[in-house]
Amino acid sequence: MSRKINFNAGPAALPLPALERARDELLDFAGSGMSVMEHSHRGREYEGVHDEAIALVRELLGVPSSYEVLLMQGGATALFAEVAMNFIERGKTAQYLITGAWGEKALGEGKIVSAMFGADVAVQSTGTGEGKEKSYTRVPPPSEVKVVPGAAYLHITSNETIHGVQFNVDGSRAFPDTGAVPLVADMSSDFLWRPFDVTKFGLVYAGAQKNIGPAGLVVVVVSKELAERGRKDIPKIFQFRTHAENKSLYNTPPTFGVYMVRNVLACLKAQGGLAKVEEANRKKAARLYSVIDRNAAFYRSPVEKESRSVMNVVFRLPAEALEEQFIADAKKRGMVGLKGHRSVGGIRASIYNAASYEWVDTLAAFMEEFARGK
Ligand SMILES: *Cc1c(COP(=O)(O)O)cnc(C)c1O
Repeated sequence: MSRKINFNAGPAALPLPALERARDELLDFAGSGMSVMEHSHRGREYEGVHDEAIALVRELLGVPSSYEVLLMQGGATALFAEVAMNFIERGKTAQYLITGAWGEKALGEGKIVSAMFGADVAVQSTGTGEGKEKSYTRVPPPSEVKVVPGAAYLHITSNETIHGVQFNVDGSRAFPDTGAVPLVADMSSDFLWRPFDVTKFGLVYAGAQKNIGPAGLVVVVVSKELAERGRKDIPKIFQFRTHAENKSLYNTPPTFGVYMVRNVLACLKAQGGLAKVEEANRKKAARLYSVIDRNAAFYRSPVEKESRSVMNVVFRLPAEALEEQFIADAKKRGMVGLKGHRSVGGIRASIYNAASYEWVDTLAAFMEEFARGK
């Protein structure tokens, strides 16, 4: 068996030890004579896994007791709607800061729910151009963000997976300061690769398939007070409070997905925690961006330097035909997943936690060689 050098944007590569552990335990989980998928979600064996997954999120991020960690379903896309359904109120404003395509999708659901509940929507966007020419190349510095006083929430996408722009925890492109307005972040492609201060946020959510597990499962970190304030006149399954009150066991959770997240988070802990994981990720991103900058006549990053993503490195070559050749040649060397999203084209290397420095170094060396040969 030879495993690919996998730069997929999501579902993305998973750490080999997490997969090997799943393989070894597949037919006989913890000596129980069945797989974890075949266990009752109310049984002792599964509950151990469930509790450990939640405890590992709490431990890795340092989540305080005033916050809940929830395991939900339907992908980050379900959360676009559920955030709006829980927190939008008549006469209030739902605020969206749009820095790329995922923010636009969240806004779309927010508009539908706002119309249902008689609320307003306020939008601030860094996008320029229209239609096919639309582009996003930056996140705003905190001073540019105009928070609507009394807004139900301000929603951001902390890392735009398609456009490769990312907020930082501090510095010139830090997360916006929203005062009393709850800050809500879609962290799908930005979760558990670095430490951040949870208490800056009312709620963060992350689809698992970018950085921490398989698709379908969403990890939510929400302030208890905010979850409790949410609407009570929406179906129970969509209320954050329901999942908080039932330890994310209100209905049958995606048990195998939770098990895989547990395996992945155990790997992050073994690596020494998120500060160590961040160090490794920054080294990988620096390697790629330095090749781009040193070969500026050939490679071009469309993203402003301060906003460059550590997770999704996007770049262009001088012509689309060259980009196609680049992708084909890379594939011959075992590198897959480098094609940019169909809406923006170009090249995208997604280098989440599970992408090793060796993989990234192989890509960087190939980039140097490819530029020299042209
Ligand atoms: C992938 C992604 C989503 C969509 O996730 P689904 O699981 O397909 O719903 C949402 N937001 C961001 C930032 C993403 O990267």
